[in-house]
Amino acid sequence: MSSKLTVTGVQGRQITIPTGLFIHNEFVPSSTGQTLAVENPSTGDQLGTISAAGPEDINKAVESAKSAFKSWRTVPGPAKAQLLLKLAELLERDAQDLASLEAVDAGVLYTDSIGMNIPQAVGCLRYYAGWAGKIDGKTLDMEGGIAYTHREPLGVCGAIVPWNAPLMITIWKLAPALVTGNVLIIKSSELSPLYAQRLAELVKEAGIPPGVVNIVTGEGASAGQALSEHMDVRKIAFTGSALAGRKILQAASRTNLKKVSLELGGKGPSIVFDDCDIENALLWTRLGITANNGQICAAGSRIYVQASIYDRFVEAYKKAAAAAPTVAGNPLDISTTKGPVVSRVQHEKILEFIRQGKQSGARLLFGGERIGEKGYFVENTAFADVGDDATIMREEIFGPVASIAKFTTEEEVIFKANDSHHGLSAAIFTNDVNRAHRVSKGLESGQVTVNAWAMLSPNVPFGGVKESGFGRDMGEEALEGWTTVKAIKYHILPRL
Ligand code: NAD
Repeated sequence: MSSKLTVTGVQGRQITIPTGLFIHNEFVPSSTGQTLAVENPSTGDQLGTISAAGPEDINKAVESAKSAFKSWRTVPGPAKAQLLLKLAELLERDAQDLASLEAVDAGVLYTDSIGMNIPQAVGCLRYYAGWAGKIDGKTLDMEGGIAYTHREPLGVCGAIVPWNAPLMITIWKLAPALVTGNVLIIKSSELSPLYAQRLAELVKEAGIPPGVVNIVTGEGASAGQALSEHMDVRKIAFTGSALAGRKILQAASRTNLKKVSLELGGKGPSIVFDDCDIENALLWTRLGITANNGQICAAGSRIYVQASIYDRFVEAYKKAAAAAPTVAGNPLDISTTKGPVVSRVQHEKILEFIRQGKQSGARLLFGGERIGEKGYFVENTAFADVGDDATIMREEIFGPVASIAKFTTEEEVIFKANDSHHGLSAAIFTNDVNRAHRVSKGLESGQVTVNAWAMLSPNVPFGGVKESGFGRDMGEEALEGWTTVKAIKYHILPRL
């Protein structure tokens, strides 16, 4: 019998969750007895401890998944769809608890989680339920016969997920993995394990058979690495840092050459042309770097503004920030507009980038300090006149820090936007449709949004180019990443 942890959620709700590893639809302690401390980033206080998986536990999860794969791959599409739809219904039913857990554990605003992250997760499950039974191959004519292709599951797969929008990102992997007939071991982030424990309970309640989804938490260097190295794991779907992504690729290359998909960081350019709707551009360029405290891989952290409107835009940007003062505090409180960043390490990292920004010669427009002494809060911050080579213009900060710079021509801004080792997400603000298409084509980016920022939809693929990674979450494209194609060839004998 595994132990439980109780936290206080929205409106004083007491939320009790199991602390064990979810293997074969049961919660079990880790084989070594090791635990992780779970911290509330609003206060820095410890909420409790949770089991930490080691290599032995990963072996157990893989054995469970292997046994489940034999029958799960043969479950008819409509039956798989029913299970995904049931899970979607349960996420909606428990949305308040799930959003509370993301808030107390990861510092995500309750209102963001309930208003966006959970509906996105629910929508993703429903979208992929719609694909069940429709993942077809092709029939091909060939010399001497005929062939058909068949999309087949990979087998036991791993999903290693981060902490910034943890439920949504987990479901981006779970839904397409299951509908294509794979079984999945999810390693939640050590910084935000609580939502995953409730998700595990809901997986069981939905009637998903034991072993089809196992959920473990633990340190990246032990649990994450053991999963990445495992000889019986056929794919790792990863979202997180480039550093961990490289280690996962190395692990795959020195073991069984498993398939890997990587969703890594970004340094998204938001390009503001002088013919745009300025109010609209102000709204989205501000949201693009302040939503979730900038802890979003698609954050619009580089803002390039055309020279003819640069001074006016920068002044308006500053005024708009002053007109909407942030209410920093407990992310569970619905009047809070700014929660903490996820951890002490992340907090220090962001403050160090801000220090470097101040020394770089850039002009601090607003912000630039931590908020309060308790918890990990940091002011929304913007620098103008940032040089192309300044660290704050080049490195992903993963915090609420905007770097604004001037450009003159389309060619120049396309060059600047592409002058980055990242290529995840970009935004263009213009009312000239031809310019929007020209610039979109010129950008090295997995996605480009015109006149808004990083809109998400489960039927639209999401992922990066260059060092932002490869492979796609969501959309029909994700189905390819979770399947392999088999070609079956018939030799048609000539009539005798
Ligand atoms: P991280 O890469 O350290 O952690 C993400 C996940 O990877 C966690 O579950 C962690 O346990 C696991 N992990 C860490 N080391 C591992 C290893 N050697 N083998 C296998 N798994 C391992 O990310 P972080 O430090 O928590 O987040 C910070 C950075 O991650 C950000 O700066 C950003 O670039 C990136 N990030 C990107 C996204 C995205 O959506 N693309 C989301 C969150 C974080």
